[in-house]
Amino acid sequence: MDPVDLFEYQGKQYFARFGIPISRGGVADTVDQALAQAEDSGYPVVVKAQVKVGGRGKAGGVKLAANADEVRTHAGAILGLDIKGHVVKRLWIEHASDIAREYYASFTLDRSAKKHLGMLSAEGGVEIEEVAVTNPEAIALLHIDPVDGLSLEAARQWVERANLDEVARDQAAALLVKLYTCYTEGDCDLAEINPLILTPDDKVHALDAKVTLDENAAYRHPEWEEFEGSDVEDERETRAKERGLNYIGLDGTVGIIANGAGLAMSTLDVVNQCGGSAANFLDIGGGANADVMAAALEVINSDPAVRSIFVNIFGGITRVDEVANGVLEALDRVSISSPIVLRLDGTNAPAGRKILADHLSDRLVAEPTMLDAARRAVALAGGAS
Ligand code: GDP
Ligand code: MN
Repeated sequence: MDPVDLFEYQGKQYFARFGIPISRGGVADTVDQALAQAEDSGYPVVVKAQVKVGGRGKAGGVKLAANADEVRTHAGAILGLDIKGHVVKRLWIEHASDIAREYYASFTLDRSAKKHLGMLSAEGGVEIEEVAVTNPEAIALLHIDPVDGLSLEAARQWVERANLDEVARDQAAALLVKLYTCYTEGDCDLAEINPLILTPDDKVHALDAKVTLDENAAYRHPEWEEFEGSDVEDERETRAKERGLNYIGLDGTVGIIANGAGLAMSTLDVVNQCGGSAANFLDIGGGANADVMAAALEVINSDPAVRSIFVNIFGGITRVDEVANGVLEALDRVSISSPIVLRLDGTNAPAGRKILADHLSDRLVAEPTMLDAARRAVALAGGAS
């Protein structure tokens, strides 16, 4: 079964069951509820967008509010905000913390080592992928044999190795043991705290929560039921599902249409290689006719993050001339706001190119190879990121 990602507020409530300290707070679906919750949490508060995507802070989805007026302003602005294709329907309001230091802590499974993997860093707050690239030695890894578990003593050595501030070490070690218990007994695939903070008055606690539950363990967690149905789906995915498309929303700017899951995946890789990032995975399967193409273009066109569209079709049973006609017919029906780069190859490719020849422009570009097309699409999306 699929893993289940929790919202931050659910992750924090899950943490709290295992004794991990979090800030006082609650959820709000309206501005009025946000005001009531702020009173309850105590000013100043933080107003936080509840969407299952990282980087909410940078996207304007996390705001401090010193009083009711500020809560009204921020809650009003964040509700309905689109964060990387996720529309905010719910807020978490909590008492604001003063921050002296931001750390990072997580547990996941390292399948190749057949062990659990703890990651701990004194350089938290920022995205850990960034730290892993710019300053990998700032992340202290700890492999944990599931049979042995994590002792307080081992956790103490770990926080020392990670260079956490001395005043934070005892509390951090105790918290990590609790986080490990949450991860194992709570059947998580991932339990991550970023940032784990040290306050100016020397308290360590979780300011964010990213939890993925292991669906295979659902049978022993009847309490997980409350997490079901609370999901607000990616609107792009809903639209795609309505049109019968095999679509997964991603965070980038290059919209992708390909035929076959394998080709769609390599298309994502090549776009990445060229320094770009895909806005989605979309496999239109065998039938690249006008209907399917129009539906695919519509879904991608409705994604405000998309800056260019890369159509990568390898004609097999579906002939390239049919695909070319399909693309032109689709473009007659839907008006597309981003430039389209086509790479059409395979059965009847010359005939397909001929059909397109008169229609090419700076809004509809054809490239001979997948790599050329990826480069072009990335350039049109604003260049390498
Ligand atoms: P993310 O951007 O989606 O990871 O959301 P976070 O919950 O991690 O919040 C982003 C950033 O907002 C944190 O790294 C903090 O710097 C800041 N922040 C969040 N809560 C508080 C708070 O209670 N007090 C202060 N001063 N900053 C906060
Ligand atoms: Mn965070």
